[in-house]
Amino acid sequence: MGLGPGAEGLLTPEASRALEKAEVVVGYQGYLEMIAERIAGKRVVGRALGQEIDRAREALAAASSGQIVALVSSGDAGIYGMGGVVWELATREQALAEHVEIINIPGLTAASSAAARLGAPLAHDWAAISLSDLLTPWEVIVERVEAAARADFAIALYNPMSRGRRRQFPAVAEILLRYRAAATPVGIVENAYRTNETITVVPLSDLPTCNVTMFTVVIIGNSQSYQSGTHIITPRIYLAHSGACRDQTIASTTVRAESDPGFAIMNESFAIIDSELGPEPSDAAERAIVRRMIHASADFEYARTTRCSDGATLAARSALRAGCVIVTDVEMLRAGIRRDLAAALDVKVACALDEPLTADLARDAGMTRTAAGIRRAAMRAGDGVLVAVGNAPTALDEVIRLVDREGWRPACVVGIPVGFVGVIESKRRLVEQLQVPWVTSLGRKGGTSVTAAAINALLDLALQSRIEEAGG
Ligand code: SAH
Repeated sequence: MGLGPGAEGLLTPEASRALEKAEVVVGYQGYLEMIAERIAGKRVVGRALGQEIDRAREALAAASSGQIVALVSSGDAGIYGMGGVVWELATREQALAEHVEIINIPGLTAASSAAARLGAPLAHDWAAISLSDLLTPWEVIVERVEAAARADFAIALYNPMSRGRRRQFPAVAEILLRYRAAATPVGIVENAYRTNETITVVPLSDLPTCNVTMFTVVIIGNSQSYQSGTHIITPRIYLAHSGACRDQTIASTTVRAESDPGFAIMNESFAIIDSELGPEPSDAAERAIVRRMIHASADFEYARTTRCSDGATLAARSALRAGCVIVTDVEMLRAGIRRDLAAALDVKVACALDEPLTADLARDAGMTRTAAGIRRAAMRAGDGVLVAVGNAPTALDEVIRLVDREGWRPACVVGIPVGFVGVIESKRRLVEQLQVPWVTSLGRKGGTSVTAAAINALLDLALQSRIEEAGG
């Protein structure tokens, strides 16, 4: 049975009942001390570390003589614990286990405890690796560390170091640095849920010189993990662009080196925005949009000027979740929309501005080219699209005209053009029409970068709501 990490409250009720029933308790001396009060008066067989097989034999012997035996491990007994040893003995040397019934009582393993202390470092695929080479050849350990690193698993290292085994851990840290960015967050949790608990988060580059002990579990983030204060978060969504590199040479050179420090800078930027942004907007979705707009512009005025019609963010989100088309007024806006997020939702981004027929239409109809581009894209994409106008007020005017006069029904219009002529007026017309939901920012300010930021925020929200729905 597993005792969990050591805190009284994390011993399961079932484990507690089993301890009560047991006549004999067998385990490592250090763990038995943690439960000394519970097992007072029972026959206790404590052993030093490294005597696992003896302990398991003793437990089987006592059980086959008719006694109820609790064979205890910290964490979960089936994970680098006595569970493995006793099942192996009982199945390989069946005489030892005659008349013995083995019952597993699961416990909370160290990786779970450490992860709980760190935030959510193991929210995506992860691997556990023990660095103890007492029972596993060192070459096998190295191979597994490399394989897990290459496959971009988050990694929980058990048994990272002991008094007599100090060389493995820094060597493993160096191997990990060959595959993962120096800034990858690493959580070092010693004595999780015990009185002398310590929790540290460091960049992977610091790991080779970190102090760890045999009471430490080390959790290394994957390529998408990020640090927020003292926490490590591994997103549930695995984005394709910075994802696992199948090719080891790529993994260890350009892709990681370029993408990951950028990721860290982005997180730091958002931390600054969060600390300076006031209570408005209070609506979570609007706030997510405004955060991104400020991130793109360093202009906190957007917190005051950004407006969404009732239900606009919801309408945009559900359209995106359903894989709608995003129509943009200019190519620069299309380029600013994150391809990985759009691809994850199967969303296509369309811009007709540079098509030759658009220039023809503009000339023939006497309209601006951006307005003509919107008209052509609208005709092609039909209703239910998400419209993004970030540059030209004439494009936004054309959107409103199509809505008013021609019954076009986009799911939502994000209209944040920038400039001095006609901009304030076109935004006012957008706000005043009642046919389609809208997002805008009042005043002269705007532009393709903040509009792209707003769209990316909506894509993010759409993806998140899809994950929430998937549950887990
Ligand atoms: N059966 C145990 C693991 C035993 S191997 C379990 O499931 O948790 C021993 C290793 O587990 C230690 O070297 C350390 O890496 C980890 N460990 C166990 N308890 C821990 C705790 N409370 N805090 C941090 N690490 C712990």
